[in-house]
Amino acid sequence: MQGACVLLLLGLRLQLSLGLIPVEEEDPAFWNRQAAQALDVAKKLQPIQTAAKNVILFLGDGMGVSTVTAARILKGQMAGKLGPETPLAMDQFPYLALSKTYNVDRDVPDSAGTSTAYLCGVKTNMRTIGVSAAARFDQCNTTRGNEVTSVMNRAKKAGKSVGVVTTTRVQDASPAGAYAHTVNRDWFSDADLPADAQTYGCQDIATQLVYNMDIDVILGGGRKYMFPEGTPDPEYPDENGVRKDKRNLVQEWQAKHQGAQYVWNRTALLQAASDSSVTHLMGLFQPGEMAYDIFRDHTTDPSLEEMTEAALRVLSRNPRGFFLFVEGGRIDHGHHANIAYRALNETIMFDNAIAKASQLTTEADTLTLVTADHSHVFTFGGYPLRGTSIFGLADGKARDGKHYTSLLYGNGPGYRLYMGSRPDVNEKQSMDPEYQQQAAVPLGGETHGGEDVAVFARGPWAHLMHGVQEQTFVAHVMAFAACVEPYTTDCNPKPPSGPSDAAHQAACPSSLALLAGALLLLLVPTLH
Ligand SMILES: [Zn+2]
Repeated sequence: MQGACVLLLLGLRLQLSLGLIPVEEEDPAFWNRQAAQALDVAKKLQPIQTAAKNVILFLGDGMGVSTVTAARILKGQMAGKLGPETPLAMDQFPYLALSKTYNVDRDVPDSAGTSTAYLCGVKTNMRTIGVSAAARFDQCNTTRGNEVTSVMNRAKKAGKSVGVVTTTRVQDASPAGAYAHTVNRDWFSDADLPADAQTYGCQDIATQLVYNMDIDVILGGGRKYMFPEGTPDPEYPDENGVRKDKRNLVQEWQAKHQGAQYVWNRTALLQAASDSSVTHLMGLFQPGEMAYDIFRDHTTDPSLEEMTEAALRVLSRNPRGFFLFVEGGRIDHGHHANIAYRALNETIMFDNAIAKASQLTTEADTLTLVTADHSHVFTFGGYPLRGTSIFGLADGKARDGKHYTSLLYGNGPGYRLYMGSRPDVNEKQSMDPEYQQQAAVPLGGETHGGEDVAVFARGPWAHLMHGVQEQTFVAHVMAFAACVEPYTTDCNPKPPSGPSDAAHQAACPSSLALLAGALLLLLVPTLH
């Protein structure tokens, strides 16, 4: 009895073996009460059927469902909780769908084909961006005539401000889907273009970033593709620009727009974001990819959350609204290296950016979607005890008499076989941030996974995100919700005949509603 009281005093937790379970969870009333509350919230859900002034697409590169679950546990544990019960920011979105991620030519896709699907609304072949499946990988002469246009491009045409934010290079496959048309995702600068591509007039992705459309905010890595060969990097003087055509694309971009500012470090970014005379903002914080957040220099490089906030501050100055693409791009890279610590920490940083955007915008006028381009062969199993570290060991031993971790990979560089047997692993080893989880098949880099990914949705028309959908549906919901092409006229559906007509509001606001909306916005600014 006395022992039980001590346990109660120690945070109402009962220790079972190495795991911890809260005492209240043994009482059915706990679960019934919690479910009743969730039911109450669900019953009160009201679809928002007015046009979305703003659209934000959060893309967790490689953020499959197993990654979301494991990151939820890690984030919960970092906050002193047991883990799995503690919701992520994305978990709090009211609507959800599954997205089928296959490319036209592959069951398991890459980030280029998928970015074309969720940003342009058309599926295509692996390794190609912003072109239909009639275009062929690496064949420049199949580009022309097969271009498809992104929702970001169409949002710009509709008068909205637009931006891309990523922790990878701004010319990388995911953000490139917003602005580029290329049959090879690796044509970052002119130095990467083969001779025949130059002959046929194919442009590198960095050039397209500046010239295909007017992008108001560009934040991420990829500095070296913008500057001529021999131009020393401002942060790493030993590194240089890589362009052979001697062009300075940053200068050319600045010359195009009055009020355009270029920054390459965190301090300058924060200053520029709070300067109302800045109309266009380009921030390139690394020559290549940005560092994993765990290795980030906090004085020189911004976090994804800080970049997202800076982008929102600049973009939200447009009374006609904005489209913003935000990528947590290095979740994917952590998995390719079979280092779950990196992938999961990047997922938490991504979730922090989602939380920040949710604070800075309102559900009434901003459609926010959170999804992944594809999954990874990353698994979470082995019955680990509740409350033990997500990086810990599975319960019990394998048939070879050795321990194994709860997190594992189907393939990749984590494959280990010494003298015909698998190495043992202990908790100290598996908790090392550099620990590579074991993989079943040896590969230099782990592969993507082919199962569906989730789409979390919040805001106007978020309720359209339901069921099992093609990945292209993401682009179409964004276009429809924001009333941009091809939904400029038919995004205003007639209410179905019947007694409940009053519940159906027009999708595109009438001019009166626009006026009222504008007045309301003047009174209640959502960004400060
Ligand atoms: Zn990848």
